[in-house]
Amino acid sequence: MNEEAIQLNAITPISKEETGQQRWDRFTPINTGEEYIESLRGRGLTVYLMGEQIDEPVDHPIIRPSINALRATYDLAIDDPDLATAWSPLIDSPVNRFLHLVESPEDLVLKNRMQRRMGQLTGTCFQRCAGLDTISVLHSITYDIDQKHGTEYHQRYLDFMVHAQRNNIILGAGMTDPKGDRGKRPHEQDDPDLFMHVTKRTDAGLYVKGAKAHMTGGLNSHWICVMPTMNMLEEDRDYAVVGLLPADAKGISYIYGRQSCDTRALEEGDIDAGNAEYGGQEVLVVFDDVFIPWEHVLMDGEYEFAQTMVSRFTAYHRASYVCKTGLGDVMVGAAAAIAEYNGADKASHIKDKLVEMTHLNETIFSSGIASSYQASQLDSGIFMNDELLSNVCKHNVTRFPYEIARFAQDLAGGLMVTLPSQQDFEHEEAGPILAKYLKGRSDIPVEKRMRMLRLIENMTLGRNAVGYLTESLHGAGSPQAQRIQILRSMDVERKKRYAENLAGIDVIASDAD
Ligand code: SF4
Ligand code: FE
Repeated sequence: MNEEAIQLNAITPISKEETGQQRWDRFTPINTGEEYIESLRGRGLTVYLMGEQIDEPVDHPIIRPSINALRATYDLAIDDPDLATAWSPLIDSPVNRFLHLVESPEDLVLKNRMQRRMGQLTGTCFQRCAGLDTISVLHSITYDIDQKHGTEYHQRYLDFMVHAQRNNIILGAGMTDPKGDRGKRPHEQDDPDLFMHVTKRTDAGLYVKGAKAHMTGGLNSHWICVMPTMNMLEEDRDYAVVGLLPADAKGISYIYGRQSCDTRALEEGDIDAGNAEYGGQEVLVVFDDVFIPWEHVLMDGEYEFAQTMVSRFTAYHRASYVCKTGLGDVMVGAAAAIAEYNGADKASHIKDKLVEMTHLNETIFSSGIASSYQASQLDSGIFMNDELLSNVCKHNVTRFPYEIARFAQDLAGGLMVTLPSQQDFEHEEAGPILAKYLKGRSDIPVEKRMRMLRLIENMTLGRNAVGYLTESLHGAGSPQAQRIQILRSMDVERKKRYAENLAGIDVIASDAD
């Protein structure tokens, strides 16, 4: 990053509102990963994890790997600025690509390449893309609402983006409402809080109540954007709200989502965790009458835009799931490495399985990157992914990582799930026995074999199977959501005409006429 250019842009504090929560002036521009970690300290967030309220999430061993994954988004911008930064005309300065407004299809392609690289570096969900895709969709939605209703949302959004880019913040995306009874609309629910809604409006702003579920990187964010999760009708008007809130705003609390094998982070040693450095994070974020000043409200009652907002968001976000190809690269590497440590790497069926894994992984990448190259420009000037190909990408992601994981487990062998603990390997008496009997090739130290097996376990059964498998299934919409979008975009009527034309059916019809 061009530190000097960013520092030259003085941060202008905005006025403090009645709750005293809008404090741009406390943010200083974040340049490095370490500065990012420091920026999270001392915020006094209300966080619950395993029955306890956590004083400082940054230092909690279960939470820290998720913060490290976001830290890597800052470090990559320094290590590989061509990939992970872009020039922003908005502040006339370089910005982290995770905050860049999409100016061309090439910007989306570079975003996808950066996401794949981040997946290779962390082996997990690095949590910054839903915020980026929110930034992209808000550009066009605020513009379109203003065109129809004469509101001033787009300028508010641009003002926010100036601050966001100058400070290099993390924006978390709060989209998924708990939804309660799926057979009922938001306004029909027995408990109105099952969808986020406006409870009060004053001269200064509005108040929201509700919760956002499965929020990726929620408490690792500086700001949160809350937005509707689905289409809204006129009766749902109070539920059609988009607002920007500091993550430590009064009235917000976080309940941390458990992940498989998460308590291995509490054990001595780093081997059994599989990937001790990096992990993902999902939290339930609860908003108890939280104030949003008007300057941070970007939709209030324009219910007819909720559906468009959701489908544009998914057009961006379902292509963002090429992130999983970076994790797929790690899986192919891990499967190849364990085959080598076992002395099996020359077998033709092993090579064929690695080819199959690669074919599946690159199929995901092809659909995602094609959707970016096929992007089109919206009225606001921003570019958006091709919706059909983006949905095909995410649909591939709901299936192929499971196949890839199956091959990795196949090549790992059963030892992956029967391996004794690191403590046993280090035990005075048990250790030498394990070193003798659990060795593969005699020139490969047993610890290498153990570490690789634990990594495959981590990504296919443990903490990062959340990111590689279940998030691949349900994140950015479950498989059926993509099938609905594919049905909407596949234009079967046009394809029927191609077939009828070649079959001479049009000719017969016109003859008959
Ligand atoms: Fe980014 Fe992938 Fe995580 Fe979504 S699942 S935030 S696209 S890394
Ligand atoms: Fe996600």
